[in-house]
Amino acid sequence: MNPVEIESLLDAQALNLIKKMKSYEEVLWFNPKIQTTQNRLEDCPLTLEDIQDAEERLKRFGPYIAQVFPETKATNGIIESNLVKIPAMKNKLVENYAQPIVGDIWLKCDSHLPISGSIKARGGIYEILKYAEDLAIEQQLLRKDDDYSILDSEEFRRFFSQYQIAVGSTGNLGLSIGIISAKLGFRVTVHMSADAKQWKKDLLREKGVQVIEYEADYSKAVEAGRIQAEKDPRCYFVDDENSQHLFLGYAVAALRLRNQLEELQIKVDEDHPLFVYMPCGVGGAPGGVTFGLKQLFQNNVYCFFAEPTHSPCMLLGLFTGLHEKISVQDIGIDNITAADGLAVGRPSGFVGKIIEPILSGAFTVKDDELFKLLRILVDSENIRLEPSALAGMIGPVKLAQEGKAFLQKNHLLNKKAAHIVWATGGSMVPDVIMEDYYKKGF
Ligand SMILES: *Cc1c(COP(=O)(O)O)cnc(C)c1O
Repeated sequence: MNPVEIESLLDAQALNLIKKMKSYEEVLWFNPKIQTTQNRLEDCPLTLEDIQDAEERLKRFGPYIAQVFPETKATNGIIESNLVKIPAMKNKLVENYAQPIVGDIWLKCDSHLPISGSIKARGGIYEILKYAEDLAIEQQLLRKDDDYSILDSEEFRRFFSQYQIAVGSTGNLGLSIGIISAKLGFRVTVHMSADAKQWKKDLLREKGVQVIEYEADYSKAVEAGRIQAEKDPRCYFVDDENSQHLFLGYAVAALRLRNQLEELQIKVDEDHPLFVYMPCGVGGAPGGVTFGLKQLFQNNVYCFFAEPTHSPCMLLGLFTGLHEKISVQDIGIDNITAADGLAVGRPSGFVGKIIEPILSGAFTVKDDELFKLLRILVDSENIRLEPSALAGMIGPVKLAQEGKAFLQKNHLLNKKAAHIVWATGGSMVPDVIMEDYYKKGF
C-alpha cells in the first residue's frame, strides 16, 4: 500500500492518529469495534475446547519435559511462571508519573519461564510438541495414554532426526523452537532477523541449531523459513504470522492464570475488573492470551497491547482495518527499536481479525521509556526484564491519565481493579548485557 491509498481510506480521527505515530509520539487508542455481547467470539475459528485440548497435550508431555528439563521437575513438567505483586514498583510509578493508580499491580513473570525465559516458551514449545506427537502417533510409535518420557530415547531421537523444523524470528521464538526441537532430535534451522541479539544466536549454535542471519527485518526472516520448508516435505515451518497452534499454546496461559488468581484470592467480576497489559510483536502471544482470557472472564477483563513507537504494527493494522495488508514502513515508520522481541513491521492478519472484537485498546511506548522502566523495576523489586518486556508496564499509568472517558463509559472509575503487566522475557539475558540495559535507564 502506498501512503496516498492509505490516507484515502481513513477518516479525520485516524489520520490524526497516523500523524502522531509518524512523528513517533506515544499514543493510546481505544478499540471502537469491541463487542460486549455473548456472540463476539462466534465467528472465531477457535474455541475454548481447542484451548483445553492444548492444555491436555501439555499435560501428556509433562513427564517428558520434567525428565529432559530438570528445572521443571517441581511442576511435573508444566512450564509456568509466577504472578507476583509489585507494590514497590507501583509506588514508583505513582511517584514518577504523578498519577494515582487504583488497585494493585501484578507482574506475570513469563520472563522467568523455564527452558527459554520468555513468553515464547508457551506457544513455540507447544507447537513443536504437537508436531512431534502427531508424527509419532501417525507412525504408531506413541499412544496418547503412554508415559511420554519414552520420547527421551535414542530411538525417538533417530526417528525425529528424519524431520526438519524451520522458523523465522527476532530471537526469542528462535530460542524456544531451537531448544525444544534440538532436544527432541529434530534438525532445526532458525532464520534470524538483523535485530536478533548475538547472544541468542550463540546460545542456539551451542545447542546444535543451525542459525542463518539476515540483514533484513523479521518479515524477511519469516519468509526465508517459509521458502526453506516449501522445498522439503519433511521440513515443518513454524509460521509465527499464521499458526493456530502457536496461538493456542499461548492461550493456555489464561487457564493457568485463572488458577493463580483463585489461589491468590484475586477476584474478577463486575466490581473487580481485570486489566491486562501485554507487549505485542506480530500479535500471536498477546493475541492468544487475550483470546483465552476473554473466553474465561468475558466483559470483566480488559486487554491492552503495548508496542514500541517505532514498531506499532498491530495498532496500525487494527485501526485502519487493513491488518496484514499494511506495514509500519508503508506510512514511513522505520521499525527500528531496542525492543527486539517487538521489532515487527507487519502484524498477523490471522490474529488481528480474531482480536478485533475483543481487544480493549493499544498504546505505544518510546524506547527510552522502556529502559527507564527497566531500571526502576530493578531498583524497586529487583526483577530483571528485557526491554521488550517492559512495554506493558506503563499501561496502568496511561489508562489512569488518558483513559477517563473509557473508564467512565465502562463504569470502571474507582473500581478496585487488578492490573496485570505481562513480563514477556528477560531471565536469559547475560549479566553484562543486562547491566548495559540498566545503565541506559538513567
Ligand atoms: C515475541 C515477544 C513478544 C510478543 O509476541 P508476538 O507473538 O510477537 O506478538 C513480546 N515480548 C517478548 C520478549 C517477545 O519475545
